[in-house]
Parts: sequence; structure tokens; C-alpha cells
Amino acid sequence: MTARVDHGVTSGTFSLDGETFDVDNNVWVVGDDEECVVIDAPHDVDGILAVVGQRRVKAILCTHAHDDHVRVAPALRQRVTAPILLHPDDRPLWELTHTDELWDADLSDGQEIEVAGTTLRVLHTPGHAPGAVCFVADELGCVFTGDTLFQGGPGATGRSYSDADVLVGSIRERLFALPDDTVVHTGHGDDTTVGAERENVG
Ligand SMILES: [Zn+2]
Repeated sequence: MTARVDHGVTSGTFSLDGETFDVDNNVWVVGDDEECVVIDAPHDVDGILAVVGQRRVKAILCTHAHDDHVRVAPALRQRVTAPILLHPDDRPLWELTHTDELWDADLSDGQEIEVAGTTLRVLHTPGHAPGAVCFVADELGCVFTGDTLFQGGPGATGRSYSDADVLVGSIRERLFALPDDTVVHTGHGDDTTVGAERENVG
């Protein structure tokens, strides 16, 4: 069985620093017909499960802990009995959303997550959030960047816990080390490629 990438979009809100915005979030599911991992758990468990189908969920991987990416992670965990993985540097953000329950296991730079015969490599890419990570699927020729890199350039850094210089450093050092034709699956909006974004980030 060959691993593939499936995709859904959920709609809801993002809140930080006392402001709330309407947002559409991408949900990425990597796996085959038997098993999969879910990348980010935004607004709506049923919307995520529609992409998962009948497959066994091995893990819920969080690109970072802004509430529009982890809002339903604990509810999804209950439904599918899978662990939530998050980089521990995002604990302050996680605790803004989930005050009485934690994730299950820490993500770390260089960690490898196996699913459906392929590997996701964890890159710690702080900047948009201190514990932001990207998941590189070398064999599939793609990377899941959350809000670190979008079509058009770097993610937002205007709010608490973000740092623009750190973000651009992460993108240049880590994401731009990937081949130009690597497809970038983002946390919001359309895909892009590493090559296309070199011009936008500089
Ligand atoms: Zn974010």
C-alpha cells in the first residue's frame, strides 16, 4: 500500500491577545487505506473524521498550539484513541486553550514518525510560535508547514509568542534546505513549493 496525502478544510475562529478572527484551516491526513496520521485538529471533529474515514489514526500531530490548530485535539483523541504529539515549547499556547488536559508525547527536532510505510521527519521551526514544527515527507516530496510558511511568504508574527527574525531564520535554514520542487502543504490556504517561496522570503 502506498502512502498518500488527503486534505480537508474546517471553518471556525482563531483567538489570541483578546481578538478573534474567522479562519479556514487545512487538515492534512497522511496514510494508506489502513492507517494514517492527522496533522492539526482545528475546529470540528466530524470534519476531520470525514477525511480519515474508517482508517486507524496512529497519531494526532500538531504543527503548533494556536487554538485554531489544537481546538479539538483532545476531542479527536477520545474519538479515535490516538496520542496527541506537540513540541513542548508551545506549552504556553496550549494552556490558553486547554487548561485541564495535556498532549501525550513531545515532538522533537529530527524525530521520525512512521506511517503507512513512509516517514515524516520533524523540523523544529520556531518563529510563528516557539514550538512550531514542520513535518517533511521526503518520499512523498512534500512538507507540512502549519503557519510557518504560506503561499506568499512567512506566517504571521504580529502577536504574542511570535518572532519575525526567528521565523525567517527557521525558513531559510530548515525549509530552504529542502529541494525546490518540494510541495508545501500549509495550515491555511493553497499549496506552494519551496522554490516558489524562495523569492517571497528572500
Ligand atoms: Zn498559528
